[in-house]
Amino acid sequence: SGVTAFRYRALPMRVLFGPGRLAELPAELDELGLSRALVVSTPGHRELGDRVAALIGDRAAGVHARAVMHVPSEVADAAVTAAREAEADCCVAVGGGSTVGLAKAVALADGLPVVAVPTTYAGSEMTPVWGTTEGGVKRTGRDPRVLPVSVVYDPELTLTMPPELSVVSAINALAHSAEALYAPDGSPIVSVMAEESALAAGLPRVVKDPTDVDGRSDTLYGAWLAGACLGATTMGLHHKLCHTLGGALNLPHAPTHTVVLPYVLAFNAGRAPDAMAALGRALGRPAPGAVRDLAVSLGAPTSLRELGAAREDMAGVAATAAASPYGNPRPTDEGQIADLLDRAWAGAELE
Ligand code: NAD
Repeated sequence: SGVTAFRYRALPMRVLFGPGRLAELPAELDELGLSRALVVSTPGHRELGDRVAALIGDRAAGVHARAVMHVPSEVADAAVTAAREAEADCCVAVGGGSTVGLAKAVALADGLPVVAVPTTYAGSEMTPVWGTTEGGVKRTGRDPRVLPVSVVYDPELTLTMPPELSVVSAINALAHSAEALYAPDGSPIVSVMAEESALAAGLPRVVKDPTDVDGRSDTLYGAWLAGACLGATTMGLHHKLCHTLGGALNLPHAPTHTVVLPYVLAFNAGRAPDAMAALGRALGRPAPGAVRDLAVSLGAPTSLRELGAAREDMAGVAATAAASPYGNPRPTDEGQIADLLDRAWAGAELE
């Protein structure tokens, strides 16, 4: 089909990509005029945080290894305090979406620029979206100040990601591309990025050998493109559901995306034929079945039950998700969402 009217806004940021690129972080900070970085990581990634602090030398104002999933508000407050006490002029976030999310919370509070060094495929580093969680409710918003000023993608930092995390994280990224393909504010350039992200290409190599740098580079490149799609468009039912499940039930982010995605795509497929065709080309098999087949073939979770969700919680999640509006190619109501979630809970066959 021909090109129709669209609106596209490029986000201002710098990207360095390639194996070994981390070594250029000090020069990158110098070029940005940043000289007192608070290095942020998760507790489990403290060693990498320390390594990055040593690499940037006297540009490091400290290491704050306290990021956790979904950015609880007290964790955000503690990071803001740490940045103030360290008199930091920026945060360097080394880690996955949780770590980038914590640096974004500091940016939101005090305007400190974020430099991101992603170690998963979550894609948060490409978006102006922040999120914090308080009392089981996740609040999110858009603010240009939280968009990282620079992103250093070094595939070597992803070699330590276990295969199980690699798979779910990549399918989390695939969800960004999939929903960007049918987003109300999509555009031809976004669709090109989404299809090109073809995250499935490198993934089997990564699972076979997590230290395969070429497979890791392809997958991280796909994750970058998927993240750019996420940052450029408004996500639909899938992201809405995962966000609600994550906030309400504290389910793990990437595995939840992995389970839910095929069900939402099956639900939307009839209203999004171009998106399904593009996904099918990217995955080499017809979508949405290809998405579930990918997850199954790589041993990923396929039901919310295995993630520890209780079946009786699905109705409440459906009600919460249905209560606030979101863009989606196919209109939904609470009953349809409850049915979809029930099927995802059980890991039912796709309809
Ligand atoms: P994560 O950041 O929580 O990381 C998962 C675990 O893997 C952590 O324990 C972490 O220390 C570890 N880890 C990370 N990289 C590793 C590596 N290379 N090797 C070994 N272990 C590693 O998980 P995630 O899926 O990257 O991010 C999920 C969070 O990001 C969610 O809270 C989600 O809401 C948020 N998110 C936000 C946006 C946005 O635009 N704001 C986008 C995507 C995700």
